[in-house]
Amino acid sequence: TVSHDLRSPLTLLSGYANMLEMVGGLNEQQETYVKKIMDGINSMSKLINNLLDLGRIEADIKLQLETLLVTDLIEEVTESLQLKANQKRLKINIEIPQHESLLLEADHAMLHQAFYNLLENAIKYSADGKEIYLKVESEKENIRFSFQDFGIGISPVDNPRLFEKFFRSANKDSIKDRGTGLGLAIVKSIADRHGGRVWVDSQLGKGSTFYFEVPRSQAYNKRKTNGI
Ligand code: ADP
Repeated sequence: TVSHDLRSPLTLLSGYANMLEMVGGLNEQQETYVKKIMDGINSMSKLINNLLDLGRIEADIKLQLETLLVTDLIEEVTESLQLKANQKRLKINIEIPQHESLLLEADHAMLHQAFYNLLENAIKYSADGKEIYLKVESEKENIRFSFQDFGIGISPVDNPRLFEKFFRSANKDSIKDRGTGLGLAIVKSIADRHGGRVWVDSQLGKGSTFYFEVPRSQAYNKRKTNGI
């Protein structure tokens, strides 16, 4: 409820900060201050949205199950992040077996969000001009997605805590683009709700591969939660 109630005053703040820029006549210093206010508002909005998302995912609300074409889902997610990837001159390589016909039963919005968070991190923690690999592997009961980057990597000390809420690595290189520390907690909750799992292989300074594995059909979901 608190997260929800914080939204309206933030929208108001953002509206008026935008108006300041529009009415014009600001000197350079005032423009810098308005930009800082907008940056603050944007990070607060992101945190609130992430908290609301996590609340929704963790609540036992019935999953909206659909049969999804894996290629379509991957295309949607890569398209929505293509601009961010282009800005860093990153090439996203996609490898999907049985390209045309691979199906998955899942909650579309949730899977989209999980893949978005993983790909966004791969982009965020990569140096300019690198490659990213998004691979799909199909097994009898499960489909495994992997997101590989050649970015800053993760220290073995941080590794066990990555999927905890609000965890952010102390790695100085990652401080520039501070997120909310909820992205991976959201990914883990989404995998859990689908009876799947997430894990990571990483080497500091070399890069990381995040794995997301879910049953291809919810009939295989051994961890069925209420309402499914
Ligand atoms: P954030 O919003 O801070 O990115 P996440 O929950 O998505 O929060 O990630 C938690 C932390 O895990 C990040 O702060 C970062 O230190 C580390 N991390 C996540 N993805 C990667 C990656 N692909 N490469 C290196 N570090 C990563």
